[in-house]
Amino acid sequence: MDTVDEIKQRLDIVEVLSSYVPDLKKSGRNFKAVCPFHAEKTPSFFVFPERQSWHCFGACGVGGDMFAFVMRKEGVDFKEALNILAERAGVTVVQRKPDESKSEADRLKEINEAAAEVFHRLLFNSTGGQRTREYLIRRGVSEKTMRQFQIGYSQDSWDSLRQELMKRGYHENELASAGLLVEKEKEGTYDRFRNRLMFPIRDMAGRVVGFGARALDDSLPKYLNSPQTLVFDKSSSLYGIDFARPAIRKENLAVVVEGYMDVIVAHQHGFTNVVASLGTALTEKHVGIVKKLTNRLVLALDADAAGEMATLRGIEVASHTFDQKVVLLPTSAGLIKYEEQLDAEISVMVLPGGKDPDDIIKENPQDWERLLRQAAPVVDYTFDLVVSKLDVTSAKDKSQAVDQILPLIAEIKHPVRQAHYLQRLARVVAVDEQTLATALGQFKQKAPGPRRETKSPPPSKLVSHLSSGDSLAEYCLYLLFTYPDLRSHASDLRVDFFLNTEDREIFLAWQNMTDVDLLRQELDISLQGHLNTLMSRTTPQLHGEAQERALRQCINRLRERWLKDLKAKEQILISELEAAGKPADLTDLQEIQKSAVKLNAELGEVFLHGKEKRKRASD
Ligand SMILES: [Zn+2]
Repeated sequence: MDTVDEIKQRLDIVEVLSSYVPDLKKSGRNFKAVCPFHAEKTPSFFVFPERQSWHCFGACGVGGDMFAFVMRKEGVDFKEALNILAERAGVTVVQRKPDESKSEADRLKEINEAAAEVFHRLLFNSTGGQRTREYLIRRGVSEKTMRQFQIGYSQDSWDSLRQELMKRGYHENELASAGLLVEKEKEGTYDRFRNRLMFPIRDMAGRVVGFGARALDDSLPKYLNSPQTLVFDKSSSLYGIDFARPAIRKENLAVVVEGYMDVIVAHQHGFTNVVASLGTALTEKHVGIVKKLTNRLVLALDADAAGEMATLRGIEVASHTFDQKVVLLPTSAGLIKYEEQLDAEISVMVLPGGKDPDDIIKENPQDWERLLRQAAPVVDYTFDLVVSKLDVTSAKDKSQAVDQILPLIAEIKHPVRQAHYLQRLARVVAVDEQTLATALGQFKQKAPGPRRETKSPPPSKLVSHLSSGDSLAEYCLYLLFTYPDLRSHASDLRVDFFLNTEDREIFLAWQNMTDVDLLRQELDISLQGHLNTLMSRTTPQLHGEAQERALRQCINRLRERWLKDLKAKEQILISELEAAGKPADLTDLQEIQKSAVKLNAELGEVFLHGKEKRKRASD
């Protein structure tokens, strides 16, 4: 039995949650309270002892097991939640001997942290630092904020950081591996960051992984980042994520801007859900990081960039904040692909007149709030933009509109959502929907399909495992890990379908990393045991279409189970509300009933789908 299972056996969800939600009251066979995650008067937060799960039927609309609760409530990741609950249960978390790369990563973060301290101290205790502070104050940064973000100054010297850190016992080659020194062609090293304003970049856990550095004179490039190291990768780092984490979870929204100063000024003015990509375009990895906290993401773009985004080709735009090079802005179609792959919602916030977020916020914070409210989902934004530029009464412009919008609609996998935009396009260009649907079908056929050949899966282990977990979900994960090519068939697999947090975490990690082998190495040690267990099942090897079929069945069953479970829980809630019967609850009741009707329709669809399939198979 692994640690997670042992904790679940020893602790009772009601007891654990009661310590966080003191007003949790028994209600029939279940417990309810005012939701601890959103403001409400009528309790819509339920705990189900038989299922050992909880669910908020109100604004949050989420639920899970006790791990999911602790992660959300404490704003921590799975590993930290595991530690918290293990201590409570009196279970020792087996600290497996960390492999070498793990300890090296730790060491590199430690070195970067030592450097951040040196830089920060210099900001307050050197002449260059004094000038830098004056610059920051001119840009509207308070001293408190400088300390919070540990902003620093690197001296105008080729070796002062190296000397300082070597005095503290670090080796020259380690400092180079951490990206702080540049190796000379022949031999020797010199300090990478000289006479620059230093922004330490932290990971989700608050560890320093690298730096962003702004030149204080005419040196080029104006912005310089740490190079790629074992612990730092520009395309998967978000500046400010450590401070923004609680607000992103709480507000269920992340705003992605471009510059360090934008993040700093936003946080100083109380907009603490803001993070920055480091002079690169938004990547799938970025979305993956944010996805751990929320599925709602707003991209703040200046008007030019936002306009370019709507074109179908990847457009290189000069990134004005990081005037080092041009970056490839994701296209609308690209963003929709991220949305589909990661089950996220991306909106576009257009900044007027070449202004940066920090200018807007400093001038008038209410403008920022207004622009944020006006942010539109990528598809809608692109749709409106394309249409606004064309005269859709002319035949030529009509076909242009269709050419530009149809590929976006093709990216949308959800049939209802897809139909919605198809109808809208039909209305706008006044062409009947069937014609467009046919064109869409042709477009999809032209698009390259998934690869068919498969790598042979690893030989199945002989040990059969008696799982105490969620065997359906585990089988699904087993298929995805054993047959990597199934990835393209799993776009409608949702994280909600998994009951256990450990399965959810493994699924999220899988979504964010395409290389399965690498993923297995990178996966947090607390989850590796679980992954090994679920991979050790004895299952006959599947070939060709049988793989897809197995996955399809698995996803359908997971979906059906999820819907049924949700429905059962809603039923409990409805009878609760009816029993209470207070007039004040009427709107709540109506809301719930509305969502129950929707749920019924969706459930009906699943059953119908299954029936048709079975019928077809028997024909
Ligand atoms: Zn809630």
